[in-house]
Amino acid sequence: MATLEHLRKEGARVIVASHLGRPGGERVEGLSLRPVAEVLGVPLAPDCIGPDTEAVVEGLRPGEAILLENLRFHPGETANDAGFAGSLARLADCYVNDAFGTAHRAHASTVGLAERCNDRAAGLLLEREVAALSRLRDSPEHPYVCILGGAKVSDKLAVLEALTRRADVIAIGGAMAYTFLLARGEPVGRSLVESDRVEAARRLLDGPAEVLLPLDHVVAPSPEQANDAKIVDRIPDGLMGLDIGPRTIDRFEVPISSAANLFWNGPLGLFEQAPFDRGTRAIGEALCASPGYSVIGGGDSLAAIRAAGLADRIDHLSTGGGASLEFIQGRDLPGLRVLEAP
Ligand code: ADP
Ligand code: MG
Repeated sequence: MATLEHLRKEGARVIVASHLGRPGGERVEGLSLRPVAEVLGVPLAPDCIGPDTEAVVEGLRPGEAILLENLRFHPGETANDAGFAGSLARLADCYVNDAFGTAHRAHASTVGLAERCNDRAAGLLLEREVAALSRLRDSPEHPYVCILGGAKVSDKLAVLEALTRRADVIAIGGAMAYTFLLARGEPVGRSLVESDRVEAARRLLDGPAEVLLPLDHVVAPSPEQANDAKIVDRIPDGLMGLDIGPRTIDRFEVPISSAANLFWNGPLGLFEQAPFDRGTRAIGEALCASPGYSVIGGGDSLAAIRAAGLADRIDHLSTGGGASLEFIQGRDLPGLRVLEAP
């Protein structure tokens, strides 16, 4: 938004391009960007490429903006197809990328189009993301404490492996903690586990970082049976772990309160449903209270921190889930590399 306003104020004719959902390369009316055009207060082009779209773009005056229709209505977007990228490039002279959340994908709008524009730049949001995440990637201050949660170990294995070499302490909660507890030989009842990741979890536990696992749990027979929720140290047969317990919160708070750098990705419990949101809220509050520089990434993690009313007190909220994880583990992001190319 700030980048768009800046460009318009400076008299640019701005063509905004984005994607929504996974329409699979064809027009899906429910995934039109019309509501986005309404929020931005700009007209919506009939499509993102083609003669009709070129005609409306041609009619733009300096300071005016238009939003292209969903890029993913064409299969060439995710395929980074040369013809599709070329059609997009016909519309514009300069390229600005402000979509950090897509920078880890080599798509037409993030790479192919950029390569075809001589003038390329980072938008203001993307620049802020890179500055904040570079701090953790390039020269983390120690103690560097990471809190990882969320649904699946498999989603986060690569980042966990990288962070065991970079961070001092990794506190693990959420559903993925149960695969780690299983690796340590503890009972997990009916909690979500990925049996094919137990070996990987065992390796991570033996890595150089100190890994903290939950000491107690909020359990219930199922997520729907919240009235039967109780706190246990060992998960009984037939019950599911749905949040970290109070002793775990106290234990995780210790390194958080003395951390210099903090990175958090993934809720620590089934936060969408009370009372299983308590662990996530408490850890959010601990992050806010810590003097350390704090960064949170991940769609659900941001939703949780906003629901807890704590968003203003975090140093940086990353808009990129997968992109922020890849960035802090030191991977090359194709959408960023192309901006740096001469
Ligand atoms: P992010 O979007 O922040 O990267 P993830 O998508 O990895 O986070 O994980 C978020 C999901 O994990 C949420 O839907 C949350 O309910 C779920 N989750 C966390 N802990 C548990 C748990 N103990 N049992 C079941 N689901 C959980
Ligand atoms: Mg998510």
